[in-house]
Amino acid sequence: MAKKEELECSFCGRKKSDTNLLIAGLDGHICDRCIEQAHGLVLDEVTEADNTGLSAELVLKKPVEIKAFLDEYIIGQDQAKKVMSVAVYNHYKRLLQPVSKKDDDIEIEKSNILMVGETGTGKTLMARTIAKMLNVPFAIVDATVLTEAGYVGEDVETILTRLLQAADYNVQKAERGIVFIDEIDKIARKSDNPSITRDVSGEGVQQALLKLLEGTVVNVPPKGGRKHPDQKFVEVNTRNILFVAGGAFDGVNRIISKRLNMQAVGYGASKNEENVDQTNLLQYIVPKDLKDFGLIPEIIGRLPVLTYMNPLDEGTLRAILTEPRNAIIKQYQKLFEMDDIDFSIDEKALDYIVSKAVEYKLGARGLRSLCEAILTDAMFELPGTDEKKLRITKKYAESKLVKSTLSRLKAVS
Ligand code: ADP
Repeated sequence: MAKKEELECSFCGRKKSDTNLLIAGLDGHICDRCIEQAHGLVLDEVTEADNTGLSAELVLKKPVEIKAFLDEYIIGQDQAKKVMSVAVYNHYKRLLQPVSKKDDDIEIEKSNILMVGETGTGKTLMARTIAKMLNVPFAIVDATVLTEAGYVGEDVETILTRLLQAADYNVQKAERGIVFIDEIDKIARKSDNPSITRDVSGEGVQQALLKLLEGTVVNVPPKGGRKHPDQKFVEVNTRNILFVAGGAFDGVNRIISKRLNMQAVGYGASKNEENVDQTNLLQYIVPKDLKDFGLIPEIIGRLPVLTYMNPLDEGTLRAILTEPRNAIIKQYQKLFEMDDIDFSIDEKALDYIVSKAVEYKLGARGLRSLCEAILTDAMFELPGTDEKKLRITKKYAESKLVKSTLSRLKAVS
């Protein structure tokens, strides 16, 4: 019997025995090496197309339109929305500026943003919503896990690892993304505190962040961590990345109040006590207050747009439940709808949930936990039964909440 001729790659001619894998097609074969090469070509092609298409992809709206978009998702916070809309508009205008016009000496600087506001007032939501509107990658990082290089924790470069991951490792896309640095107040210098002699995590991290915020080329470990010295680094330029930092800055109220009082007695006092809204001092925040709090001036300078979030009152919490485009109640409605269950909730029950969120000091985040506690039994029992209607009354809500662990909160707080 004649020896069967050995199959070969129709592209490079390698014999099957010289390849790791030979895949058969209709009229030919392809080996693993040729597949890899072809894949590389495809990637190059796609990235190139992406680069040229990036400006078109970026949906840039006018500040008024940006604010209108934010209004759909976020209740209240008008001042912050306005400031953010302008900052984002300017940032992306700078980015879309044609290269040739950059010669005219006027370089528009970055408008990184600092948002001050209690936890749960919508800082993250604001940054996330803007990223959604612009259709750019978005990453959230927690400043508390960052440390100076050499200490246990994460290097600041890992911030960019997250962004790269959010951009599916497309560097060009990542370079136009938005990074939200949460809890920036936790890396404030603590030197006012006499019990701390050396402050390794605070000021050091601020120093490390400086370059990143301003714009520099960083070697980023694509998989994060610093334990693998042989992993290949990816170069990311942070020049066009918009950084939004947020923090509660617990205690800054005292600093603001002190400053306002001093102004009130000093020469040329611009505010007298009667005009000061003591319930919301954050609205008077100025960069110097942040310096007094412990941020180094260089960091403050690189987060030039400063804005504040208002505390959430009952009316706002009530609106958050039902009004935003993906309001919590709308989400439950949708979930039940998928099981053909007609879900409704009485106004009184909604008021009750809000009053409990206030009582337990849970803020907007608590609304969700309260709804879960009230609706879990129904979500467990109803699907698959003949019951096609669920109406939540205040009484029903009360009865479910009494049984839940949330109701114990009051006892411990
Ligand atoms: P922060 O970052 O200020 O701690 P978040 O943005 O994470 O707060 O808000 C927590 C949750 O509370 C959000 O997921 C959102 O559902 C809700 N929330 C907070 N503030 C608002 C608001 N102003 N409008 C709509 N929802 C809000």
